[in-house]
This record gives sequence, C-alpha cells and structure tokens, in this order.
Amino acid sequence: MSENKKVEKIVGVKGMNDILPADAPLWELFENTVQSVLKSYGFQQIRTPIVEPTPLFARGLGAVTDIVEKEMYSFTDSMNGDELTLRPENTAGVVRAAIEHNLTYDGPKRLWYVGPMFRHEKPQRGRYRQFHQVGAEAIGFSGPDVDAELIMLCQRLWADLGLDGIRLELNSIGDADERNKHRTDLIAYFETHRDQLDAEAQRRLYSNPLRILDTKNPGMQDMVNKAPKLIDYLGEESRAHFEGVQRILRHNNIPFTINPRLVRGMDYYNRTVFEWVTDQLGSQGTVCGGGRYDPLVEMFGGKPTPACGFAMGVERLLELMKASGEQFAPNQCDVYVVHQGEAAQLQAFVVAERLRDAGLDVVTHCAAASAGGSFKSQMKRADASGASYAVILGEDEVANGTAGVKALRGEGEQGNQATVPFDEVANYIVDQITCGDGCDDPTHHHHH
Ligand code: ATP
Ligand code: MG
Repeated sequence: MSENKKVEKIVGVKGMNDILPADAPLWELFENTVQSVLKSYGFQQIRTPIVEPTPLFARGLGAVTDIVEKEMYSFTDSMNGDELTLRPENTAGVVRAAIEHNLTYDGPKRLWYVGPMFRHEKPQRGRYRQFHQVGAEAIGFSGPDVDAELIMLCQRLWADLGLDGIRLELNSIGDADERNKHRTDLIAYFETHRDQLDAEAQRRLYSNPLRILDTKNPGMQDMVNKAPKLIDYLGEESRAHFEGVQRILRHNNIPFTINPRLVRGMDYYNRTVFEWVTDQLGSQGTVCGGGRYDPLVEMFGGKPTPACGFAMGVERLLELMKASGEQFAPNQCDVYVVHQGEAAQLQAFVVAERLRDAGLDVVTHCAAASAGGSFKSQMKRADASGASYAVILGEDEVANGTAGVKALRGEGEQGNQATVPFDEVANYIVDQITCGDGCDDPTHHHHH
C-alpha cells in the first residue's frame, strides 16, 4: 500500500453479527447442552443447506406471512437463473429433505438441527438479520404424546441451561375446516369493528384474519380479546388431541397457560401450538415457538404424514444465560510453554505434544508480529492466557535435559519454580493438577 492512501475498512452486514472468541464458550456450552438433551430423547441431527429454492418457502410458509411477504433474502442465481432464498427457518428444509430421501420409509423420525437463519427485519435487541435457531421435527407421529414430549424436552433444556422464568403458553388452532368456520365468524366480527382496525389489520382482514389476533397494537387489545375464539370451534378429534397433550403435561408437572389468542406465523400449523415466553428480554420475549403441522408434508408433494416441531432463538436464550449471572470464561489453556533459543524451541514443541497426549490444553509461544520474544514478555502472555502452569525452556534447561515448571495461579504455590527432568514434565504437571483439586481426570480439572 502506498503511504498516503488510507484504505477504507469494510464492515459486516447490518443485523448480522460476528460471534467473537469471548462469547465462544457460551455458545459451546449452549450447543453441547442442546446436543445432549436432544440425544437423550432419541433425536438425530440433520444438516440441510442454507440456500433452498424460493418456492419451498413461498409454498410452505404461506404467501401472506411476514416472512414471505417482506423478510426473505431471495436472489436469482446468475449462473442458471434459479430462484433461491437464504433459509428464513428450517422446518421447510427438513421436511423437503425427509421427503427427498424418504426418511420415514421405516417409521417415524425424530430430527433436530442448529444453524443460522436469515430474515430481513429491522435489527434490534433480540432481532437480527442473521440469527440462529435450534429446532426439532418429529415426522410421522400423529398423537398428542409427541407434542407433549417436545414440550418436555424444552423444559429439560431450560433446566439444564440454568434458566428459569420461561413459561409455556399453549393453544390448539384446530384443523382446516374448523379454522374456516371460525375465520368466517372472525371476519364478520372484525367487519363490525372496522373503525378500530389499524392499517395492518385492514390489510389482513380477508387474507389472514387469524394474524390480527396476534396484534401488538395496544389500542386493539380490548376488541381483539372479545373476538370469537378458535378454541370454541374445535371438533371432537381436535379437542381430544388437545386434551391429550394437556393430560401428559399435567401428569409430569409441566405448568402451562392456555392462550386462546396464540397463533403461529406460518400457515402450515394445525392443532397444537405453543410458545415459551420470558419477561426478561423486553419485547422480544418469545424464546421458542412450535406446534403441529400435519398438512405440510403433503403440501410439499410427500405422502400425507403428520408432524410436530419447534424452533428456538439461540441469541435470545444466550442473552438469558448471560443475565443469569454465571461466568462463562474458561481459561484459554492449562499450560503455556515459553522458550528461548533455537534448541529450546524444538524442545518446546516436543513437550507441548506430550502434555496434549496427557489430556491438557497447551499453548506454545509462537512468534508474533508485535514485539514479545523476551522471557519476560512471554511470561506476561503465559499469565494472560489463564494457564495454571508455565513450562520454561532456555539454554540451561536444554543443556541439562530439564524444564522449568512454574505455577501461575491457585493453591498458594505461585512463584515457585520447579526444575523437572524433561521426560517427566507431563506426569509432574498432571500430578500437580489432579492432587491439587482432588479430581482424577486431568482433562476435567479446569472446569472446577
Ligand atoms: P417474532 O414474533 O419474535 O418475530 P416469529 O414468530 O417470527 O417471532 P419463529 O419464526 O417462530 O419466530 O421463530 C422461532 C424463534 O426464533 C422465535 O421465537 C425467536 O426466539 C427466534 N427468532 C425469530 N426471528 C428472529 C430474529 N430476527 N432474530 C433473532 N431471533 C429470532
Ligand atoms: Mg417474526
């Protein structure tokens, strides 16, 4: 670069966040917990592409939903003219894949996924343009049992993540013909209160009147509260299904409230719908939404196959975890290896590998662009790494076949430097660590 030209920095896309190393331990803890909870219910992971054909969402989610109307990142593939979309959600993709690979040929399947989703929304707290969801889809199950199981799985996840104050809202939106009857009455009701409808509601009156019930407009709450309730239109079967879900939840002491106004954004839902909500996140308080979507597989050209699932917003849950006050900042490593001179550098790599063989996390000092080659500055880095021990290799140590081992923190042994025969360094440090905190597994000591 020429000296007097200032190069302009390129910044990331608005609403799409970098997840920085400081937050990585929190993400890892979250993802590991999710993975183990889902595994404990027999769910298997599926990974589908981030890009899907646009018609998958246009057809699957319904043309008059928020997502399809205004939130999708869609583009034409300039190579072949294909209409493509960055997935705004992943139920459609999972169902597409299940049909394409005939995943339910030998019975129903419990599937789960985690990954980024893309919606062109106004960025704000808890609402981003790239965000992450964990979702589960139970495909091929018709009964209320799997609906309840999915809900119980969520409850266990909140507990394992150390989160409380997330409450369950439950509703049944019945089947298509029940919704149609209700819809007719609902439109008639809204027509008699036309003066109270805002512009959004006016627009939705005939296309998606159910969504008007979901309005956040305070001026409409009273009118909307008195509107005909879908739950009163449920037939025998839908009612029995809903009762079945509630029976299992009650039997397992899962508290819930029935919210007759709860509907879900996507067109494909039927019967059970639920949301997990918290008061701790301002207006973006829904951390997870789900429900039954029996019509979807057939809508995508598959054999009629009932299904139920949920999707949770990872960023919102991580914000709750942060607010719960627990610390998620484990050390970068257990041992930091400093060295001076060419021979010592070679030995540094050898001892670092042995320490890793013994199950320890090790950082070997490597040349940096900034100054920092002296023992003193290397030791500063060792300290900053959070390591419990520094291994020190200089000319003397190499000549004597030894290494210096210095405790950097814990148990009042700081400052003491032991001279240990080179071949015993790994055992020495493992002994120090396991004796130090009474744990037999050296790989676990840093979690204490
Ligand atoms: P909202 O009413 O908040 O827009 P939604 O009904 O659009 O939510 P779903 O499509 O059901 O949300 O997605 C499931 C979950 O994903 C939500 O409950 C939320 O936790 C999370 N989520 C949805 N959109 C976003 C976003 N733009 N940024 C971050 N998280 C999101
Ligand atoms: Mg939304």
